[in-house]
Amino acid sequence: METKIIFLDIDGVLCFRKEIDQKCLENLKTIVDVTSTRIVLSSSWRFFPKSRAKVESSFKQIGIDPLLGWTSSRGKTRVDEIYHWLKDFDNKTIHEDIFITKWIAIDDMDLFKLDAKRMQDHFVMTMPLNGITEETIKEAIMLLS
Ligand SMILES: [Mg+2]
Repeated sequence: METKIIFLDIDGVLCFRKEIDQKCLENLKTIVDVTSTRIVLSSSWRFFPKSRAKVESSFKQIGIDPLLGWTSSRGKTRVDEIYHWLKDFDNKTIHEDIFITKWIAIDDMDLFKLDAKRMQDHFVMTMPLNGITEETIKEAIMLLS
């Protein structure tokens, strides 16, 4: 099965002051619905089962598929972590029925500035106080189409 991936940060993207924002969640749902995308967690929330559960339950509540996974902590930067995940995923027989056609990262940290070469056409940045907006939706859909 062909699929597309969003590497999702949480704080400043979907969440402000530890609370998941309903409007940002709805906006994420729009992106996921239009592009048939699965989510991989790249946020530091991935390290904590309780935080992952909070993300999962908000996804369930709004009708987004469960997380496809989360990045490891290998590598020096978040970009490294994303590329490690993509490489490992390719080698995993458990997911042999899934073929990744496109991917982006959504983050309020400037991953493009961090690694322009590897993030070119793969990155949508949010403003930490706004999270996923109409503008984010447009950019994400454009890159995933
Ligand atoms: Mg963040």
